[in-house]
Parts: sequence; C-alpha cells; structure tokens
Amino acid sequence: MEITCVGGARTVTGSCFWCRNEKASFLVDCGMFHGPERLEERNRAPFPFVAEDIEAVLLTHAHIDHSGLLPRLVREGFRGKIYATPATVDLCAIMLPDSAHIQEMEAQWQRKKNVRKGKEAPPPLYTQADVERTLERFEPVPYGTLFSFADGAEASFRDAGHILGSAFLECSLSVGGHRKKVVFSGDLGNRDQPILRDPETIETADVVFVESTYGNRMHRSMGETLEEFAQIVLAAHREGGKVIIPAFAVERTQEVLYALHALQKQGRIPVVPTFVDSPLAISATEIFRRHPECFDEQTRQMLLQGESPLSVPSLTFTRSTDESRALNELEGPAIIISASGMCDAGRILHHLKHTIWRPDTHVVIIGFQAQGTTGRKLVEGAQRIRLFHEEVVVRARIHTLGGFSAHADQGGLLEWLGAMKNPALRAYVVHGEEEIAVEFAARLQEIIGCPAYVPFLGETVSLLEEVPPRRAFPQPAAAATMGRGAEPPESVARLIARLQGLAERLSSATWDRGRIDSRRLEKQLGKLAKIAEKLEGILEKGQASS
Ligand SMILES: [Zn+2]
Ligand SMILES: [Zn+2]
Repeated sequence: MEITCVGGARTVTGSCFWCRNEKASFLVDCGMFHGPERLEERNRAPFPFVAEDIEAVLLTHAHIDHSGLLPRLVREGFRGKIYATPATVDLCAIMLPDSAHIQEMEAQWQRKKNVRKGKEAPPPLYTQADVERTLERFEPVPYGTLFSFADGAEASFRDAGHILGSAFLECSLSVGGHRKKVVFSGDLGNRDQPILRDPETIETADVVFVESTYGNRMHRSMGETLEEFAQIVLAAHREGGKVIIPAFAVERTQEVLYALHALQKQGRIPVVPTFVDSPLAISATEIFRRHPECFDEQTRQMLLQGESPLSVPSLTFTRSTDESRALNELEGPAIIISASGMCDAGRILHHLKHTIWRPDTHVVIIGFQAQGTTGRKLVEGAQRIRLFHEEVVVRARIHTLGGFSAHADQGGLLEWLGAMKNPALRAYVVHGEEEIAVEFAARLQEIIGCPAYVPFLGETVSLLEEVPPRRAFPQPAAAATMGRGAEPPESVARLIARLQGLAERLSSATWDRGRIDSRRLEKQLGKLAKIAEKLEGILEKGQASS
C-alpha cells in the first residue's frame, strides 16, 4: 500500500491522503488549503490522481480543511461514496454550500478586477450545483460500525472528540498480502472539553497517521481557562467595552456558549448581551441540538433536566447583514462571537475594524491561527493590521485561551498514541506546521519509542518500507558559519531545512516513477543553479571583506 500526502503534510490545512494498493484506491479527507498564497494555489493545482478512479472517500470530520475540496473532486468525475458519521453528513450539508458561496463571491470579485485590466478571470473553484451533487454521494455510518468500502478494505469511525461528529479512522487494509491496521487520527480533540466526549483510544494499530497541530504545547486546564475567561468578561463589563471572539461556526461557538451558560449559572459573571453573528453558526447550533448521541454525560444530563446548555438568557442570533451592521453602533458591554475563526474572512473583520482601535475592547482568541492569517498577526502582537485595505491600529487587549482549543495538546496526543500497544507501531506525523511536526516526531520517538516520520507535501510513502530516519532542522551551531557568529534568522533556517528536504527528495527514487514533469523540473533546477551561483558569490565577497 502506498499513501500520497496530497495535503496536510508539514502544514495544518488541505488534509488529503491518497491510499492505494493493487486492489483499492481511496482518499482519506479531501480538504482545502488556507493561509499564504503559495498554499492556497494548491486548491486549483491538478490532483495527482484521476478523480474517476477513486473508489471512495473516508471523511474524518466536516471542517473545510478536511472536506472543502470534495465538490471539486465530484466536479472532476468522482462517482464513489463519501463515508462519514451522521453528524458530519449534516454539518457538511451547511458548510459545503457556504464554502461554494465564498468561492462564487471570490470569482465574481476577481472577474470585476480583471475586466478593468482586460483579462480573463478563472471560474469559481466549484459552485452550488457541484455541492448538490457532492451531498448526494454521502453515506452516513455511525461510530463503531465496520463497513467495507473497497475490495479487501474495511474501516470504522471512532469518536475523536474534536467537533460534533468528528472521527478517527481504524482501517483494515491489505499491505503486501498481510492484513494491517492503519489508523488516521483526523483531528483529535482536547480532553475535558464541554459538550463532546473525550477522544476514544485504541490498543491495536500497525501504522498511524497522527495530527500534530499543538504537538509542541500544553494547554491550560479547563478550570483555569474558565477563570481567565470570567476575568476578561468582568473587565469588559466594568469598562463598558466589547468582547470580540473570532470562532469558526462549528468549532468553538457552541463551547463558548456553553462556558458562558455555566459561568452565569454559577454567578461568576453578570448577564451580558451576547450575539452570535454568523448565519452558519446558527444552523450549526441547530444541528448540535439534533445530535445528542455525540454529547458527553454531563451535557446529556443537562438536556434531560430541561436545561439548554447552548444558550444564555441574553443571547441574540443575528442572521441578516443589516442586523450584523447594527452591532457596530451598539454600545458595550457586549460579547460578539463571529466567524471566521482565523480572522481572514467573514463578518469578524467588520467587528475588528470597528473595535480593535479601542482600548476597552478585548479580543479573545480561542482557536488555532494558521501562519499568514490576521488572527496569527494579532496573537503575535501586531501593532497595526490591515482590514479592508485600511491600516488600523491595535489598541485592544488580545487574549489567547488555549484551553478552549479543539485540538489535543502534546500530552493528549502522546497519551492517545501511548495506548497503542504494538511494539512494531510506526507513525507518520502530519497536520502540523513544519517545525512543530518535526519537534513532535522527535518527542514521539523519545517517549513512546516508535519510529516517526514527517512526510513532505506531495510525498508518497510506502507502508511496506521502514519509516525513513527523522529529518531534523539544522542546529544553530552548523548554521552559525553563515554570518558573523550570529544565528541566521528563523526564515533562513526554515529555508535551509526546506532545501535539504528538497535535495533528498530530488536524489531519491521519485525520479523514475514517471509521475513528475521532468522537463519543467529541469528548467526550474536550471534557474535554481543560477541563484545558487549568485548566493555563493555574495558569501565569498563577504568572507573576503571580513
Ligand atoms: Zn478540524
Ligand atoms: Zn484539521
């Protein structure tokens, strides 16, 4: 069995693994890339497979970075089934149309821009019609039910505790004539989160593909997080300011409502007018109410006693853009929860524009912020940010509450992997930013003693072969020869690591697999050789003058 990391390798987005052996060819997830342009361009790049030849897709959960390219796959000829849990199927029925809407709007904007330049514009990545045909292909499968999806290939979904309906996959596949259990973690949840159950654990696995979003970090406990959150709400209440919470519709919105409900019930915070300003979050909250089978014991008990844990007395859902705009005029104190969670699109941008320059505003970051997004800039302490082509000064206080995270921290990931008892277990570390994934792979080898490899984007790994030795980043000592004794900037270290990886891949067997356009590759390598010459020139000159 060979597996190509089409996405979600050395990056957090674009999750997609193409798995194939002599009998079967299927995908695990088919997600969209977000973040810097060079990544987002991949959303339009040709798939390394023929869509028609894919027999099935196993979808771990509804997040767009795992499901967002499914409509493109169908548009290009995929005719198989998309297996997912019932809650994931329901969530995709609102999230994929929303994604198509964004694609259509972006294409329209691009068209207007290009017309002025007398240029053609690319069509939308996909449309509502593609989404409709995609939704017809879904096949709901409850947690724990074994299903066969291709010749000699079976799988079951297990609760990943990440978002409603999220799952990790236990697959039974034929690898070189032997049955092997291959596990795909999807996104693993954080323990002790409200509403959802903790991730399930399993004892047997031969190979695991494990996410590493927070592979280098430990979250604070839920208790500490709630206390911090209460203090922020109290401060905003005192100052008459707004609390702005960027949250994905189906990520943290419902957990934040649950936390507010609990804090108000315990009398730890006053009743503050609260707004969920995201039409998608409204539909998502309704879907939550429809799937109590995904809830943990505590939430189930609350429902049985007639409590509605996803609500607070002062809650308003705003659907229309007019209602949303009215929130700009509203005086604080108020709590506004809006999407997108990484502040790179959606209504949250308007709320930030109207409040972020005020010192009485509190922005509460509760989800992962990918490189290159506005949310990441805020977390990293940007003094100014660009919103709608306008520079806005940041005077608001920015709080990061890791405890609300939908992802397991390093401890959670290691505990989940530690439950697997097979001494011959092998791991592929995916779904994490490069440095974090590499660091986590090292921890994994050290603590659990299982060989761990961090595949590159586009790399094909063979489950018959051993995990290749771990590739580390250059140590500062080795890199110090670069300049006057000082360490090179991080960007240089990262580039060196990338070039090293590239060199290894270029010299490996990939060349004779016939899957690459070698003419184009050689042309680019020619350019690279010229750049290398120039760089050598600069360095030599530097050495001569020092
Ligand atoms: Zn996710
Ligand atoms: Zn993810």
